[in-house]
Amino acid sequence: MKLNERGLLIVISGPSGVGKGTVRRALFEMTGHDLVYSVSMTTRAPRPGEIDGVDYYFVSKETFLERIKNNQFLEWAEFVGNYYGTPLDKVEEQLDQGKEVVLEIEVEGALQVRRQMKDAVFIFIVPPGKKALYERLRERGTDTPEMIEKRMRKAESEFLLAHKYDYIVVNDEVHNAADRIMAIIRAEHAKTERTIHNYIKMLGE
Ligand code: 5GP
Repeated sequence: MKLNERGLLIVISGPSGVGKGTVRRALFEMTGHDLVYSVSMTTRAPRPGEIDGVDYYFVSKETFLERIKNNQFLEWAEFVGNYYGTPLDKVEEQLDQGKEVVLEIEVEGALQVRRQMKDAVFIFIVPPGKKALYERLRERGTDTPEMIEKRMRKAESEFLLAHKYDYIVVNDEVHNAADRIMAIIRAEHAKTERTIHNYIKMLGE
């Protein structure tokens, strides 16, 4: 039985290079949930294999700026030279339908959502240590040594934002991290403040 009608907004964020995307994908591969992923809009070029409307909505800078002007994003941020944002209308529509909407976004955007959506759930993904993060960035093979240094410095300042989140999940192993997120979502559902209203209504029926 469902005791809460409006869906839950779940924000997964964390320092750059921590593996947020991989954890999010593992979460969606799990069965027995009805999570929906909020597809972001970006001005960056698609990578090989990425599909428009599935991985991102790929748009021009002009289109993106126009949408910012029209307040059509729940949040947006510039990240290493490109714009990324969460389309507001889709998120609202899905929450109204009672769906569990997952955002996977960088930290600046997550803090914007925190200010606007008071009952959203904020999860901060962290690496098992600085060395692990460094190794991950190196193994990814997509950055020069200078870029890795830059990302490490950025990540170190981002670590300090952990206290602004409701939960911290260590990404020691992708499936463990996804399991912990699922447990958090289930626990959030049972929270008294989310369910008491409908529970009392049910008692009166
Ligand atoms: P990538 O270019 O590797 O796909 O993503 C770069 C970063 O942008 C990642 O940290 C990803 O989580 C973040 N990102 C993806 N979509 C959004 C969004 O809609 N808003 C914000 N603020 N960050 C996003």
